[in-house]
Amino acid sequence: MLGALINLVYPASCQSCGIRTGSWNENICAGCLKKLKERLPPFCRKCNRQLKGNSEPENICPDCRQSALYFDRAFSVFHYDETLRGLIHNFKYNKITCVAKEFSKLMTTFMKQHDIDREIDLILSVPMHASRLFAREVNSSDILARDIAGKLAIRYSGAFLKKIKNTCAQSKLARHERIRNIKDSFSLTRRGTGGARQKNILLVDDLFTTGATVNECARILKKAGSGRVDVITLARGDSLS
Ligand SMILES: [Zn+2]
Ligand SMILES: [Zn+2]
Repeated sequence: MLGALINLVYPASCQSCGIRTGSWNENICAGCLKKLKERLPPFCRKCNRQLKGNSEPENICPDCRQSALYFDRAFSVFHYDETLRGLIHNFKYNKITCVAKEFSKLMTTFMKQHDIDREIDLILSVPMHASRLFAREVNSSDILARDIAGKLAIRYSGAFLKKIKNTCAQSKLARHERIRNIKDSFSLTRRGTGGARQKNILLVDDLFTTGATVNECARILKKAGSGRVDVITLARGDSLS
């Protein structure tokens, strides 16, 4: 009854295609959810990059043969296609945060299906530099991490990692430039230094491109004596290799 009333006063529309959805708390319509493309194996066994259909399951991608990885496992739920590109862009830059509920639900469902939700002590997000957070007002990684932690009843902290260097946007850079740009740009807070020790950590972010950012966070956490560091993102923008 209350739901019907809210629907009448605040009809929700799909944040991707704009059609009216059935319920006030449905921000992505069933049709657009169906369009999202799940990533399917084979994957690089180190970084989870999508490999060609006939690759051996134990294959390692060319990037992982060259560079050091500090996270243990990485998972991404969907391909970064047009639908997700629009939704994530509006989430990050236009403060359309209502989609976070749907995103975190899709991510937790995926985690349960693949047993990724087990033996995690702590969920962390990728922090933004204070000045960028001030300008943008929204840290999409933080919102997703907190939501997922709530759904899985796992401890979350937004006060363990901090961004100490205001680096230029990774999206404009090539892979090797991203690695150099992000290096030494995070640190652990005093609370994080003690709190991360011997903990199995899940890092949550919206998008995995080259993995340079989450890899740098994992490096800092491992240096502080953390246990396993796994990564989950909603989408991954990798091409086949
Ligand atoms: Zn739609
Ligand atoms: Zn790889």
